Amino acid sequence: MRRALAVMAGKATGNLSRLTGRGGGTTFPGDVARALDPQVLRKLTSDLKGGTVLITGTNGKTTTARLVAALLEGLPARVVANRAGANLIYGATAAAVARAGLNGRLDAEWAVFEIDEATLPKAVEETRPKAVLVGNLFRDQLDRYGELELLAMTIERALEAMPAGGQAVLNADDPRVGQIGLSLSRPPLWYGIEDPGVAVGELPHAADARTCPRCGAALEFAAVYVGHDGDYRCPNGDFARPRPDLAATDVRLEGLDRIQLTAAGTRLGVALGGLYNAYNLMAAFALGRALGLKPDYMAERLKHVEAAFGRQERFEARGRRFTMMLAKNPTGFNEILRESIRLAGGRHYLVGLNDRLADGRDVSWIWDVDFEVLKDQAAVVVPSGDRAYDMAVRLKYAAVAAARPPEPDLGRALDELIEAMPEGADGFLLCTYTAMLDLRGLLVRRGWLRPYWAT
Ligand SMILES: [Zn+2]
Repeated sequence: MRRALAVMAGKATGNLSRLTGRGGGTTFPGDVARALDPQVLRKLTSDLKGGTVLITGTNGKTTTARLVAALLEGLPARVVANRAGANLIYGATAAAVARAGLNGRLDAEWAVFEIDEATLPKAVEETRPKAVLVGNLFRDQLDRYGELELLAMTIERALEAMPAGGQAVLNADDPRVGQIGLSLSRPPLWYGIEDPGVAVGELPHAADARTCPRCGAALEFAAVYVGHDGDYRCPNGDFARPRPDLAATDVRLEGLDRIQLTAAGTRLGVALGGLYNAYNLMAAFALGRALGLKPDYMAERLKHVEAAFGRQERFEARGRRFTMMLAKNPTGFNEILRESIRLAGGRHYLVGLNDRLADGRDVSWIWDVDFEVLKDQAAVVVPSGDRAYDMAVRLKYAAVAAARPPEPDLGRALDELIEAMPEGADGFLLCTYTAMLDLRGLLVRRGWLRPYWAT
């Protein structure tokens, strides 16, 4: 009774915000529903015939969740998923409320929620998940010393609190995630990459998990793939990368268009680019294995998945091709910069830097991003967004001669980029969260992209 009321009120709030044009991303229905019944998410997810899957980690949550939802939907199954970025308990609640019937019941098989690391204990407690995935733990912007360790402890506590039969699925290549998994009382399912052919040279200077969690010695890396993720071991022999149950071999990166790799004897391909997406692909595949999905079935489903909101979305405008890439922390930014150059020969960039609440108010983290890679590479870089001037200063210190003067207006910045690009060329739009939302809105108004809630 109480939950039906909470669901109705939440739904009414959701309809109201859609009517007033605040369509994408609101979690307000979740706030309203939880105020009326704090147990509403627990009750709704207990209706699920399959169960709940939780996905956490610093980077890649949205893409991994998208892939896992696609795997489950093909069964076929009805899948409830929260919106990109709405990854607190209110966002998950809002998603469940939106899909519940007027009787207050959730008539679906699965829920796939991307969950902020710090929210994981609460989400585990309320949804009693069948599987929890931890993809990586990078320093998020300006986290103070020790916060990464604190988050690791929070995640470990959440994984230990999983119900019987709940499976932890962990990235063996991330030293902090490895540390978490090696302390668990029940064995996790490990996944990783084992193909030195696609490794990158060295740890980027923003890498943060360089030291052994046991003795503090500098970890040795036989291979580095993404950020501080790779094949690591402590020279003192007290800590090393766990051997993955599912390892990606024979990884082929076909520009930014496609990744192929072999795991568990199955060739997997997905229309996403960049080595960081090989981890997201492996994460989804490992989660699917944990849920009992067949490798051949997954391979077939994954072929047809499209990029998630703002994650490598493509569009064409005035004869030029563009890729939007979300960048919200130093590791993520370094990865998309490096891969846009390494795999697509990127030369034309717009960098949209905002400092609103969802972006982080302090933008000094851009000094941890290696914009120096653009120095001899870029033909044009337009700094834009609310903090275009800070971005311009950063590019100046990186000696990027192709940098234009700051243009805070994203529309004018995009026009400037288009004009500077030869016809048929590829452009890359690297944006923080709210800059991406603004830019995407602008692209929809210009008819170059579909509105998100219509896709
Ligand atoms: Zn050690």
